[in-house]
Amino acid sequence: MHFTDTVYRNPYWPTFPLLQITQGCTHNACKFCTMYRNVDFKVQPIEWIEEDLKELSQIVPEAETIQLLSANPLALSYDKLEPILKMINNYLPKMKYIYASTRVTDIKNKTVEQLKKLKELGIREISLGVESGDDWTLDRINKGYHADDILEQCHKLEQAGIEYWMTFLNGVAGREHSHEHAVNSAKIFNQCKPMLVGTGGLTLFPGTPLVEEARRGEFTPLSEKEMLIELKTFLENLTCDCALNTHHTSSINLTGPNFLARKNNIISALDNEIKHGDMDRLAFIRRTKRTL
Ligand code: SF4
Repeated sequence: MHFTDTVYRNPYWPTFPLLQITQGCTHNACKFCTMYRNVDFKVQPIEWIEEDLKELSQIVPEAETIQLLSANPLALSYDKLEPILKMINNYLPKMKYIYASTRVTDIKNKTVEQLKKLKELGIREISLGVESGDDWTLDRINKGYHADDILEQCHKLEQAGIEYWMTFLNGVAGREHSHEHAVNSAKIFNQCKPMLVGTGGLTLFPGTPLVEEARRGEFTPLSEKEMLIELKTFLENLTCDCALNTHHTSSINLTGPNFLARKNNIISALDNEIKHGDMDRLAFIRRTKRTL
């Protein structure tokens, strides 16, 4: 297999075979992200993709699912994606779900009709690293789009029938703008129809612009308790009928289907953790994290 950069397996799709069709991230400029910092964006040569598919067809000929790499393979135009997806279906004829993480901006260069065709070819569920629905925060972290873009592109996915996840990056607005980040993100998420909302807490990694800003006193990271309070505010305001997935330092388990039905219990569990949780232990766990 031709894996040319660090492989990030989606933790929620742990067993899927992986196929690299792009390298790195087209944006590579979010202020908190180290994932592809020293990697240029490239499209894999089509010969490599075919060789990898031949290999997969021998190892997992019955595969019904596959995860495309790397950060945002759907940045490729429809015309570039179509032959790759057809090739996947040829080599793995039982294929049902072709998953990928992607940026909101990657949907922009595709019409609803093209998205519908991508769905027919297997793109049925994607993960959008939205991070925030608050314009101030999106600008602050250099995400490269605004709340209007999120709404416009998510509505296109809905028209095409492609299911999507949305992520909320807890803590990324810092102390100065924490409340607005939580409330405005929920407002934007509420106008979309994600099948799942995922959330993790910001960890500051060395080498990122955000770390430098924190060092200069221009960004104030949230404490573990403040992070939980922000998460609670976001979830209190969230009205999406979706699943919820969290990967925080806290061991309380908020993950599961039917967020709305569980919302009161989730808020109570967070309240309890805010009042009685061992914040030193949470800070210790965060210090051991090596990647987003
Ligand atoms: S967070 Fe995602 S979009 Fe932003 S630089 Fe990292 S991989 Fe690219």
